[in-house]
Parts: sequence; C-alpha cells; structure tokens
Amino acid sequence: MSFNSIRIGRLAGIPIGVQPLWLAIVALITWSLGAAYYPDQVTGIAPVASYGLGLLSALLLFASILLHELGHALVARRNGVEIEEIDLWLLGGVARMAGYPKTAGAELRFAIAGPAVTLVIAAAFGAFALALPNSAPAALRAVVEYQAYINTAILVFNLLPAFPLDGGRVARALIWGRIGDITRATKIAAAIGRGFGYAMIGIGVLGTAAGAIGGLWLAAVGLFVVFAARAEEGGLRIRVAFSGREAGRLMSFPAVTVPAAASVAEAVQDYFVRHRYSAFPVMDGDRLVGLVNLKAVERVPAGRRADTPVGQIAIHHPSLVIDEHQDVGELLERPAFQEVGRAVVVTEGGEVGIVSITDVEQVMRALELASAA
Ligand SMILES: [Zn+2]
Repeated sequence: MSFNSIRIGRLAGIPIGVQPLWLAIVALITWSLGAAYYPDQVTGIAPVASYGLGLLSALLLFASILLHELGHALVARRNGVEIEEIDLWLLGGVARMAGYPKTAGAELRFAIAGPAVTLVIAAAFGAFALALPNSAPAALRAVVEYQAYINTAILVFNLLPAFPLDGGRVARALIWGRIGDITRATKIAAAIGRGFGYAMIGIGVLGTAAGAIGGLWLAAVGLFVVFAARAEEGGLRIRVAFSGREAGRLMSFPAVTVPAAASVAEAVQDYFVRHRYSAFPVMDGDRLVGLVNLKAVERVPAGRRADTPVGQIAIHHPSLVIDEHQDVGELLERPAFQEVGRAVVVTEGGEVGIVSITDVEQVMRALELASAA
C-alpha cells in the first residue's frame, strides 16, 4: 500500500487508493465545469444543478480512469505480474506492479490495455451522444458530450510516447521486441520521452507567454515527463545491476530491534537517538511485528508518544519481509520497498537484518566506480 494515499476500497481483489491531491483535482473539475461549462451548455441552469453536474462529471471521469487502470491490472495479472494496488493521482492513475512484464509482448499487452479501455469508454459516450434525439434534455447531452471529449483527450495524451504515459511503455515494448534488449530499448524510449517532455515545456512556456494559462500546466507535465524518463532509465539500470544478488550479502546484520511493547517515546530516546538509524525491525519476543521508521513516529501526536506502544504503529507489509536469498533486483521492483526504502531480512536461523535503499545505492555507486576504473 502506498502510505500517503487514502484507501477507498477494492476492485477485483486489488486495493484502490487515492492520493490526497486527486481530491483537489476533483474539486477543481467540479468548480470549472460548474462555473463555466454547464451554464454555457444548459441555458438557465440553476447554480446547484450546475455544480452538481460538475461533481457528477468529475466522478464519472474518476470511474473512467479507474477502469483504465483496472484494464492494465487485469492484463498484468494474466501475464503473471501481481498488482499491489491501483493509485489515483494527478495525471490519472497508476497500477503499481510487484515486478515487470518479462517479455516485450507482455509489456506491449500491459501498456495497451489501459488505452484500449479508455478508447471503448470514449467511443461508447461518443455513440451515446450521437444517438441522443434532438428532444433529449440539454443537461444529459452536456454530461455525455463532456465524457466523450475528456476520455478522448486522455486517450490521445496517454498515447504520447513519453514515460510515464502509456505511449512511452508502448514505444519501449515495440523497440524491445525489435532489438531484443530491454536496457537499450529503455534508453531509446527514454530519449524519445525526454524529447517530448522538452517540446511540451517549450510549447507550454510559449503558450503562457502568449496568454494561454493552460500552457503552464503543459510545461509542468513536460517537466514531469523529463524527470520520469530519467527515473525509468535509472530504475532499470539499478534493477539490472542487482538482479542475481542476494539480500543476505547486502543487509546490515544483525539489526538493532525494538520490542513491540516499548512506547514510541522510549523508541525515540533509546533507539532513534542512540543508534541513529532511521528504521528498526519491531519484535514481539521472537516474532517480527514489522518495521518502525521516523515517519511512522512523526505521525503519532507528541502528547500520545508515551502511551502508544511501538507495535501499534509498526509498518507490516508482506513484501517488506524477505529472506536472505531474496533477489535484490526483484526487491527493488516492489512498490512498498520503493516507498519505505527498507525491508527486514529474516534469516534461516530466525535472526533479523535490514536492507535499505541507501545501502543499495551506495553499492551501486561503488560498482560504477569499479567499472569506470
Ligand atoms: Zn494507463
């Protein structure tokens, strides 16, 4: 589970989360449609009805994006990649996978599944709009036309060949299938993505200078795309470098552990301050309860730290508990590990160690120095 997203339920067994920022986007869409679009389309509409339709439209959009992500998720699952959760955020959604498709064909099917769902939704609303008789209420027509329009816009935007947009993954899968090398394919796809990112920034800045406020948004997305291309490339490089390496050889061992019954205040004084690590495994006797980090401590109000047991705030996530033979390349692909940056290693002897992303990054830098020498 992504720790800053709000869990709203499950679909097909997959947890659905919403980033707090998405709620702001829903409000923004409701407001802009309620204030301008619906009064324009439906003459004499009352403000309450106008904003109500605005909210309905935002929720329908939300459902469309959810179906898009579900399309990705179900295809990934059929290709043997488990989905940890679907998270809705600023640019739409993301299906967080524990792992990556292993072949170019699987990657292509995965990448295309979401846009295929969006295409069906856009076409269905489009057909519905065309089939409406002239006598149909103007409000209904406006709702349907907006969904046809916005889903088409999402489809086109989503197919731009730039990470993290689906088009970027489609491009990589096609190049990968052709040259047979995922590292080089990612490099080429990332370069194309960066090109698109810089173009968006350029057009966005020029547009803003010419008075189009939407240009700012385009420039921001462009910037995001440039960074995402770099992250995709870097992430793959590090996964490739670490696949085949076992966690046991990278872990800090034995780890200093915190008893579950200790209070949060005691944990701060006796562990975080004294040992200066940023996370500790939490043990109830011989049993591992989870992991406590500074972020989890900070979430407990200062006045309640003395009487809250650490066991109660420990993060327990199955993909953050591994054994010493765990492949580090695969661990790096786990969304929970990327989020928390730590995993607990339980050895065959039942002792615990800890692997952190900072350890991995340091080894990566050392490896690069070694290969440059
Ligand atoms: Zn998608």
